[in-house]
Amino acid sequence: MEEFKGQDLLNFIKELPNDEACKSYLAKIKWHDGFTCSKCGHTKGCAKSGYTYHCYNCHHVESATANTIFHKVKFGLQKAFCIAFEMSTSSKSISSIQMGKRFSLRQGTAWYFMQKVRKAMKSSQKYPLEKLIHVDEFTVGGKEEGKQGRSYDSKKKKAVIAIELTDNNKVKRVYIRSIDDYSAKSLTPIFEEHICKSSKIITDKWRGYEPLKENFNIEQIYSNNGGNFKQLHTIIMQVKSWIRAIPTHVSKAHIQAYFDEFCFRINRSQNKASIFHKTILRMVESKPIYQSQIKQQINV
Ligand SMILES: [Zn+2]
Repeated sequence: MEEFKGQDLLNFIKELPNDEACKSYLAKIKWHDGFTCSKCGHTKGCAKSGYTYHCYNCHHVESATANTIFHKVKFGLQKAFCIAFEMSTSSKSISSIQMGKRFSLRQGTAWYFMQKVRKAMKSSQKYPLEKLIHVDEFTVGGKEEGKQGRSYDSKKKKAVIAIELTDNNKVKRVYIRSIDDYSAKSLTPIFEEHICKSSKIITDKWRGYEPLKENFNIEQIYSNNGGNFKQLHTIIMQVKSWIRAIPTHVSKAHIQAYFDEFCFRINRSQNKASIFHKTILRMVESKPIYQSQIKQQINV
């Protein structure tokens, strides 16, 4: 199929000028390997108008949006595509308020759909970080920026971050997880989900990492006020300003979705040409997410 490439907005509008074009784009992704009926599993059917399939066995008519994140999008597929385009290709984050104004949607509607896009941006965990990795924890929200040591302020949200460095000590990929505390138990998931067992991992002297040495190759060094973890701290500053730029309150329940969006984009910053298509691909592969599943915790 012809996948959309690049970040050119006019090109984007030209190639996907209306809801039908977007539907057909989804259909090409969804039935790339042929049709399989979602009701009965039958593989023979006929395509209708390019974006629905009629199953020969059970006569179910399946739309391109069924069983994807685009399921029952009420404001039209083109707007949905535009939101995904903005979120994946722009270098700064865009608020749901601004997105709403841009596409004539209520802020809440824009926010819900953006949360769905973020869910699709969540890591597949198929490509764990490898070779040289730096790990540290940080907090976002609340005040007292710049204060040393691990914060126990309950208003702050805690997170653990892992970065993979290239041979030239540049940041290659990043994963972030929201955590409840700094215990070994809370620090374990990012290791198990995102770090290859054969990699060399460097952390500071925090004792929470010690039990993890049983399964991972961890070296603990003094942080030297972050001096020994320069690349890591640059990324942490970027995450913090990314979160700070969100005008709506980000609750603890939702912060992981924002981290996932941040990582998805930073991990594809070398592949910006295909990032929109990758986003749509993920949204087709993801199961539908309903508003009820995204707890309503918006305090504007
Ligand atoms: Zn069927």
